Amino acid sequence: MSSFFGNLFGNKKRTTTQAEVLLEELIDRERADQEKQFSAESPARCDLCSKSFSAERFFVDGEVKGTPQVGVPDGTSMGQWANMCAGCFQARGVGVVWGSGQLYERTPNGTWLMMAGFPPPKNDA
Ligand SMILES: [Zn+2]
Repeated sequence: MSSFFGNLFGNKKRTTTQAEVLLEELIDRERADQEKQFSAESPARCDLCSKSFSAERFFVDGEVKGTPQVGVPDGTSMGQWANMCAGCFQARGVGVVWGSGQLYERTPNGTWLMMAGFPPPKNDA
């Protein structure tokens, strides 16, 4: 059994991790192109594991599972938020949806573009 994964994941260069594949599946590229919503900050590292974002493709700004809940104005509550690397998001992130987290992908010029977790459509019709 152990050699099965050894063969699959052994002797590889840095490639897309499983956690990154899960994030890729969330991407709404059409909406991202419309919204052009860039992260206001450029976090240097993951708040949870301190991994540098310098070689990361994604980060998630979102709620962390198992953190103290605080009340929010709409009467619900939410936990603490953090800038998470893909691996930490997979382990501890609540989700990439409006209210729980936003997914950002690095652009060629080094900014971070929101790829998922957009606000609800702004039509009041
Ligand atoms: Zn991390």
